[in-house]
Amino acid sequence: MELRRLAGWTAGGLAGGFFALAFWLRLGPLPPITPDTTPTIVDRNGIVLYEPLSATGTRNEWLDDVPAPIANATIAAEDRRFEQHFGIDPIAIARAAVHDVIRLRAAEGGSTISQQVAKMLLGNPPRTIGAKVREAVIALRLEHRYTKRQILALYVNLAPYGEQTIGIARASRRYFGCAPEELTIAQSAWLASLPQRPSTPRRALARQRIVLHRMHELHLIDAAAYREARAERLSLGRGVQPMLAPHFVEHVRSLLGANAPRRIETTLDANLQASVRGIITAERASLLRHGAHSVAVAVLDNRTGEWLAWEGSGDYFGTDFGGAIDGVTTLRQPGSTLKPFTYALAFERGFTPATVLADVPSHFPTAEEGVAYTPRNYDGGYRGPLRARLALAGSENVPAVALLSKIGPPSLLRLLRGAGFHDLTRTADYYGLGLTLGDAEVTLEQLVTAYAAFARGGVGVTPILLGPRASRPPFSVSTGETRVVSARTAFWITDILSDPNAREFAFGRGGNLEFPFPVAVKTGTSQAYHDNWTIGYTRAVTVGVWVGNFDRSALRNSSGVTGAGPIFHSVMLAAMRRVNGNDETPIVDRPDDLEQQPVCALSGLRPSTSCPSIESEWLPRDAPVEFCAWHHANGVRWPAEYREWAASRERRATSTPRATAARDIRFRITSPANDATYLVDPTLHREFQSLHLRATHDAKWLVDGKPASHEWPLRAGQHTIVATNDRGERDRVNITVR
Ligand SMILES: [Zn+2]
Repeated sequence: MELRRLAGWTAGGLAGGFFALAFWLRLGPLPPITPDTTPTIVDRNGIVLYEPLSATGTRNEWLDDVPAPIANATIAAEDRRFEQHFGIDPIAIARAAVHDVIRLRAAEGGSTISQQVAKMLLGNPPRTIGAKVREAVIALRLEHRYTKRQILALYVNLAPYGEQTIGIARASRRYFGCAPEELTIAQSAWLASLPQRPSTPRRALARQRIVLHRMHELHLIDAAAYREARAERLSLGRGVQPMLAPHFVEHVRSLLGANAPRRIETTLDANLQASVRGIITAERASLLRHGAHSVAVAVLDNRTGEWLAWEGSGDYFGTDFGGAIDGVTTLRQPGSTLKPFTYALAFERGFTPATVLADVPSHFPTAEEGVAYTPRNYDGGYRGPLRARLALAGSENVPAVALLSKIGPPSLLRLLRGAGFHDLTRTADYYGLGLTLGDAEVTLEQLVTAYAAFARGGVGVTPILLGPRASRPPFSVSTGETRVVSARTAFWITDILSDPNAREFAFGRGGNLEFPFPVAVKTGTSQAYHDNWTIGYTRAVTVGVWVGNFDRSALRNSSGVTGAGPIFHSVMLAAMRRVNGNDETPIVDRPDDLEQQPVCALSGLRPSTSCPSIESEWLPRDAPVEFCAWHHANGVRWPAEYREWAASRERRATSTPRATAARDIRFRITSPANDATYLVDPTLHREFQSLHLRATHDAKWLVDGKPASHEWPLRAGQHTIVATNDRGERDRVNITVR
């Protein structure tokens, strides 16, 4: 009896001990699991723009669910009996042991996926017997607590995929530039071959073949999928573009501050950004020759207000010229790029592109008593009456100031602030009439945003830089749209800025401002040539380019400098390729109430029978008709404000005997005009800037005594242009090119 009781107790004790052991094995504590994601900033397609290392020197991203191709590839690569075993796989252990014995390289480690998860949770301890037992215990506990699917998820989230990358999610972006859900079977197999087998990409590819074969063998993929996966050519390394847009990344981070989400999806287009960088690199030598060390470029999607490209200096790591400064957000004098807003305001007040403005010597009162403002055009000359279309397109200073003097700087300041120029915080008196000539400082970001309102038919936009899928902090929410100018004004400004004929009298034809599709464009140069700008837009995008120096040193050889123009040209082409290639549709829809009407080229009024030259202009259908009273059978009757200018021009003309003689013969040069002064646009490649020589009849041309084609490239200096015809008639004009 005693013995039997003892045996009973012993058996009971053993059973109890066994259950206690089993209980401890399965339900004991697990090491902590901390889903970790290091911050990343990605472009609109998931391409990584920025990925700092975590405290442990890795880059992590946590994935909640494992897509099937990754799950299958991982099982094939690591643990083919994953679905069957209970955490430990005795068959695999035996197989590994046999492989070791016959000195073959172990194709499969003896460890199950669960054991490997345990090992990673324990911090990859040294390979001792004790460590292996601990791993096995943890593996059993994992199997008890979690489903197979969850254990697999733990594995792909914790596994190292080389290049300091932890987890399949970060790895798929790192190597293939896509989200893990978008991986193909071939890509999944390649990635599944990486953990714990640090290897070259070439060796990983050989390993991928083995994994694919095993997936097929295990019926995880069918024959067709297997064939397809084997045929797929993997393209690696597309996923990361570190330092592609450092200024943009810094801007995003500074705006988001401490509350940034772990994964920040932005609006940037890494491909376009890369094009912008390439374009700047290609122009660098030419820029340096002219003393320009920095370039800023910004591209905005007009429809959505998304920033597509953002380059702050062209050389972030250049320390000599402040490369880390972000030229997109730096305040600079905008030169003539603000002129369109003066004209826009005038159009809102009843002016039209046919309204004639006075380009004559003028003095304007200023806020300071007794002090007059005397603006000058770049070439020092005056062109008399100038239709607003020509005055804006040719970027004449005097008419712009005259216009602002009529409208008043306070109104312009209001319009500019409404268009997004938030740094114009001084009073209108402080800025004065120089406001229209770009004396006040603005940023490229503001300029591009404000121009986008013209492209959007007059409706302003609040630019955004975070993608639609990111949780947006309040600053980036598009807070409703506000109208900056009327649709009619937006159409007029756009029509003028995209009219190469209108700017020809000042800039010639061709060059960087002309495209195979409509582009509205404006150049600007700040006083003393510190800053060089080109801003323009199509229906789809607005592109802004600034060239200069952050230390405000002047650019050299301002005449003929290759500045913002060539960069603008290339960036616009690249940006339009991105959208739809050559967009022939009008930039801005024409309002129904405008129709083309004939106007006298000189007075801008409805032509009378005496008007020698007639142009057409988009004018309101119901505009009151006023006929030209300037032209009469016996000449021009100048309005009072032009009489002095006309008289001085007449004096100049008659002091040149040849010119007087030439006026009497029928055959004559119609373009250029005698005594005309042309301005070589410093923003254009000079070899592309040409003057169209025209005469009343077919003519042969001589420039400075040498035969020339009717498309004559502008060259600085004084020139004599002679036209001859078959009948021996000739005409001659003198021009100046600066
Ligand atoms: Zn007329």
